[in-house]
Amino acid sequence: MKFAIVSRGDERSDKIKAKMKQYLIDFDLLYDTETPELVISVGGDGTFLEAFRRYVDKLDTTAFLGVHTGHLGFYTDWTSDEIEKLVIEIAKTPFHVVEYPLLEVIIRFSNDEKKSLRSLALNETTIKTVEGSVVFDVQIRGEHFETFRGDGLCISTPSGSTAYNKALGGGIIHPSLESIQITEIASINNRVFRTIGSPLILPKHHTCLLRPLRKDSFIIAFDHITRSFTNVKSIQCRVAKERVRFVRYRPFPFWNRVRDSFVTEVKRDE
Ligand code: NAP
Repeated sequence: MKFAIVSRGDERSDKIKAKMKQYLIDFDLLYDTETPELVISVGGDGTFLEAFRRYVDKLDTTAFLGVHTGHLGFYTDWTSDEIEKLVIEIAKTPFHVVEYPLLEVIIRFSNDEKKSLRSLALNETTIKTVEGSVVFDVQIRGEHFETFRGDGLCISTPSGSTAYNKALGGGIIHPSLESIQITEIASINNRVFRTIGSPLILPKHHTCLLRPLRKDSFIIAFDHITRSFTNVKSIQCRVAKERVRFVRYRPFPFWNRVRDSFVTEVKRDE
């Protein structure tokens, strides 16, 4: 089997990467960063997002696994002291794969009818502007829903629902529900502008289309990557046809992760 390892780049993560790489090569696995079947991320959820981004064009043939070198993550379930056990699992056991939905974002531009940009997000996309507020005509399934004015919108996947979406008051969605969630970032509500004010969860067959009404320049983030765009005509969001594949050698129940990350009290050293 061909594998690659993406490290957060700190000393500890780099050491674990080097150790795992050597162990796996000793087990006759092939280190191949071009077309790996297994991508191991070593670091935190942020590192996992980077590993996903690097191999986003190879999702059909690539499965991901996360080792955390800090706190428990949503995408990282193995700890650094379980490396030997994990290496043996990888070398000896065929892996079981769990698939989660992704968000598809298509940006269309007004200066070139033919030009569009398609991107996938594992956590979310956020649309903001450098100064002032964004004003969008929000369409859902081809029908006008509302005119949004505010700091921006966050459109997240179920697995990203525990990230930025949660901080915005969005709900936590189990990743077996193929859906996307739209959450408001500081909407302006007055007699002119009125928004729904609560998060919206769209099923797989519903598309959300945002049409800018004032400015056409935006700061759009895809997970941890932020880019600026001008001449934006529309931004379309829906559940992607592609899915991300996670390697599982043991159960990693979503609600346990939610509990352990947000509810279970962690004892701090005084
Ligand atoms: P960062 O600002 O360095 O870290 C963001 C935090 O979000 C980290 O603690 C990260 O965990 C955690 N995280 C990432 N994905 C998560 C998930 N699916 N569920 C729960 N927590 C998650 O940024 P980054 O490391 O480059 O990650 C980019 C992500 O930051 C974005 O996708 C967005 O979701 C999130 N973000 C959150 C807020 C907020 O909560 N107010 C604001 C902006 C962006 P690790 O420490 O394990 O890496």
